[in-house]
Amino acid sequence: MTARESFGDLRPPARVLLGPGPSDVDPRVLRAMATPVIGHLDPEFLRVMDETRELLRAAFRTENRLTVAMSGTGSAGMETTLVNFLEPGDKAVVCVNGVFGQRMADIVERTGAEPVVVSAPYGRIIDPADVKKALAQAGGPVKLVALVHLETSTGVWQPVEDIAALAKEHGALFVLDTVTSLGGVPVEVDRWGVDAAYSGTQKCLSAPPGLSPVTVSDRARQVLHARARKVQSWYLDLSMIEQYWGDDRAYHHTAPISMIYALREALRIAHEEGWENRFARHRRVGRALQAGLQAMGLELLAQEGFRAPMLTTVGVPEGVDEAAVRRYLLSRYGIEIAGGLGDFRGRAWRIGTMGHSARPRNVTLVLAALAEALRVQGRRVSAEAALEAAADVLAEVPAGGG
Ligand SMILES: *Cc1c(COP(=O)(O)O)cnc(C)c1O
Repeated sequence: MTARESFGDLRPPARVLLGPGPSDVDPRVLRAMATPVIGHLDPEFLRVMDETRELLRAAFRTENRLTVAMSGTGSAGMETTLVNFLEPGDKAVVCVNGVFGQRMADIVERTGAEPVVVSAPYGRIIDPADVKKALAQAGGPVKLVALVHLETSTGVWQPVEDIAALAKEHGALFVLDTVTSLGGVPVEVDRWGVDAAYSGTQKCLSAPPGLSPVTVSDRARQVLHARARKVQSWYLDLSMIEQYWGDDRAYHHTAPISMIYALREALRIAHEEGWENRFARHRRVGRALQAGLQAMGLELLAQEGFRAPMLTTVGVPEGVDEAAVRRYLLSRYGIEIAGGLGDFRGRAWRIGTMGHSARPRNVTLVLAALAEALRVQGRRVSAEAALEAAADVLAEVPAGGG
């Protein structure tokens, strides 16, 4: 095979990213990525890493020494926090109320450990009483309890503290997925007693996909260092990764330089905004969107009282072609939203208001565009009612958010 003579320039269209990630990337982050690549052991780069780690600790609200950015997307972080602690024959309680909890159970199984699944229907939170029961009935020590903070397949925002305390009571490590929550709602690694948390760069941190921030408590580090066998993944082995991020600076694999630049800049932006202000912005923008959708007569699928502000699942009305609406939004307005996953496939849209995408103008835009798309499908909904309901909430957002 020979390639054609020439290929066109790369010209991705302008989009408004209102799906479950990636979210819109701040131009400052793109500029940071275009700065010169230097060596991964260059003293200047090591300084950039140190600053990135300091910012990550602030994001996770932790003093954990072992705080790094794993090379890979959020799923690499998920795999890291499971394969480093689990050995064949171990038991792990995994909370499953959506696609990402299911993915954790799958990874646990692949380590040779035994997943003890605690489940809840899509759209509902995990009940701590069910976790308590599972721990009591596990028939032996449980090595680890794993939970998703913000289930991106359902839009459910899970309370963490009770389940973290149960894990601790049973001497199990507590692993928390914060891929969608970090940077959008408070994540309190030290206060909640989280032993290992992981995130991703492309959701509420608004950098491109490619890194997975991970933080590990000293207690979990001891479990890692007391393993009987080597970690089955060479690439994700934290006992080696920590030597590169720590004082030894030992080469393990080449750090993705430009992605670290991106993460540092994204975290610097959040730091400048102020984490509390950032949470408040997500809360208001999410509430405005949800108020607008309800005013339009649409049904929100996440349990009331536990709806995530940055990912909203909304039911597709009877007789409406789910995919056709998404195609309409994309082709006519350049807006990306997503369809349902797992049990919600074909039944839901997922609208993300994450990081740089969590802005008032995007709420107004997507509500108006969605009302129009539904009209084209023969479904008359009131855009005016939706925009009014949203505007009432958005009036509380400080000016300048655009
Ligand atoms: C997106 C996501 C992941 C997976 O991250 P990738 O970057 O797609 O690998 C894991 N957990 C949750 C909750 C997510 O939203």
